[in-house]
Amino acid sequence: MPVSRPIFRKLLLNALLLIAAALIIIYLDLSRRGIFEAACIAVVAALVISYMQAVSLERRIGRLRDFAEGGVDRRDIEAEKAAEDELGVLARSLDGMAARLGGMAERAKVDGAQRAAILATMMEGVLAVDLKLRITFSNRSFAEAVGAQHPIRDGTPLPEVVRAPSLIELLSQVLREGEPQEQRIGLVLAGEERIFLAQAAPLASPAGPGAIAVLYDITPLERLERVRRDFVANVSHELRTPLTAIRGYAETLLEGGLEDAENSRRFVEIIKAHAIRLGNITSDLLTLSELESGAAASPPERVSVLAAVDSSLRTVSTAARLAGVRLVRGDMEEADVLGSRTHLEQVLVNLLDNGVKFNRSDGEVRIETHRSPDGNVSIEVSDTGVGIPSELQSRIFERFYRVDKARSREAGGTGLGLSIVKHIVERMNGTVTVESDLGRGSKFTVTLPRCA
Ligand code: ADP
Repeated sequence: MPVSRPIFRKLLLNALLLIAAALIIIYLDLSRRGIFEAACIAVVAALVISYMQAVSLERRIGRLRDFAEGGVDRRDIEAEKAAEDELGVLARSLDGMAARLGGMAERAKVDGAQRAAILATMMEGVLAVDLKLRITFSNRSFAEAVGAQHPIRDGTPLPEVVRAPSLIELLSQVLREGEPQEQRIGLVLAGEERIFLAQAAPLASPAGPGAIAVLYDITPLERLERVRRDFVANVSHELRTPLTAIRGYAETLLEGGLEDAENSRRFVEIIKAHAIRLGNITSDLLTLSELESGAAASPPERVSVLAAVDSSLRTVSTAARLAGVRLVRGDMEEADVLGSRTHLEQVLVNLLDNGVKFNRSDGEVRIETHRSPDGNVSIEVSDTGVGIPSELQSRIFERFYRVDKARSREAGGTGLGLSIVKHIVERMNGTVTVESDLGRGSKFTVTLPRCA
């Protein structure tokens, strides 16, 4: 087996010591002293040397131990590293290992800080509890979701900050069963209910077992879903009425009504009116869906407001004449706006048409345009009609909302006209408002940014 240099030196030192002892014995023997004294002197010398070696070894091992335990003067370990014996090798290995461990600890610290920062700034509420449902971690979003002061002190019992029994029950169940769970939870905050999807799972943390929950705010999604459901229900309802009528009159005709020439003509006219209504509803729905999806969006063009006004007046003139309502072209100030001419005309036709439909015979619908100094143009459509109760004025822009359902239907309305108006105007970066006096008339004002 090859012998390393340090071991070889030790062997050499011990051999020198033995030779020195032998020389002392020979010397003493020659100087006629007794062999016993000679042996005693050699043993004492050997003991002193061994003692000194042992003390030095112990001191060096002590330094290495202190270093391993993390409390040593850097200069001492540097001295040990410089030694060429086995302890020097050990000192160098320990120093290398200490550097690697230091690096790992630093990385773990950075990782931990990064994770804590991510959890703290997450939009989702994050909450961790121990086996006794005491909070061990919570972020700002969680505190906001439950209406608590951030930061929530670690160790606070969950029921002290959360009033929703369903969340407490969810976490208790996870702790009991050790399985991930998920639940919709309603939390009332400042009088407003918000809906959260809570996902909880068991947590094995260094501080002991527990559970973690993440709360996603799904209130906007729920709202959208409700709007969608209401919309589908409304559409079905709107379509069912004319379809039922068409079917009923067609069956009456087939069951003998055809022989009755006078009535059969009336029935067919009713069928035609309902078919027209169905057509109006579907075309308004298509317009709305195109506006919402942006499918019909062609590049905006410069549109003359006066040209759109004149064209719209022509479109509604027949309906106005039939209803005995005068159309008045009031003060007109020319302006160009950016958008789609077809869309702008649709806005004006819908407003003028409503002015005619919800008017009295011999009434009047007036249209005017004004340029304002702030760079806008306002188009006012006013009528002398039935007016709109003030508490319902904000609702008339909702889809299918009608103040007087029967009157609207009778006049061929779909309840979608004003929502189309609002969509188009907002798309053109404008606004639409209404002022109305019940029994005296209404005024709709569309304000659009003018082209330079
Ligand atoms: P529609 O006219 O097809 O019923 P709209 O969306 O255009 O649907 O209008 C919604 C409702 O607002 C109408 O049913 C009516 O009750 C009310 N409304 C709209 N314009 C007027 C108006 N000029 N005068 C009185 N009520 C109006």
